[in-house]
Amino acid sequence: MAGVLTGAAVAYARLYYHGPEETESLLSTTEQISYLGILLISAAVGGQFGLMPDILEPAKNGNWRHRKFFHSYTLLAMLAWFTYQTETNPELHDMVQHFFTVAAAGYLSHLLLDSRTPAGLPWI
Ligand SMILES: [Zn+2]
Repeated sequence: MAGVLTGAAVAYARLYYHGPEETESLLSTTEQISYLGILLISAAVGGQFGLMPDILEPAKNGNWRHRKFFHSYTLLAMLAWFTYQTETNPELHDMVQHFFTVAAAGYLSHLLLDSRTPAGLPWI
């Protein structure tokens, strides 16, 4: 759920921050999709990637020590760095930048929420 909200919020923030030019670019790429459609797809993408850490490292038999690399601060930092690189790379299409950032935000929302639990996150 946090990933859905994060995906939609990040999509809205990106489109607002980058202004009408990027919104037009996204809409022209996806002629069949409206602005609301982009937000809904972004929410779905954020939601799916928000579930990804527990899909990659599921908690089995009540083992709360299931958090390994895909739940780690190392991956969190790497993902934040790749997102920054993607966002600032002018050679990448707006659509790639948009959905990579939305997916990363969904994933990061999971890690940030898990980091607030007593088990926390491992460093590696
Ligand atoms: Zn988790």
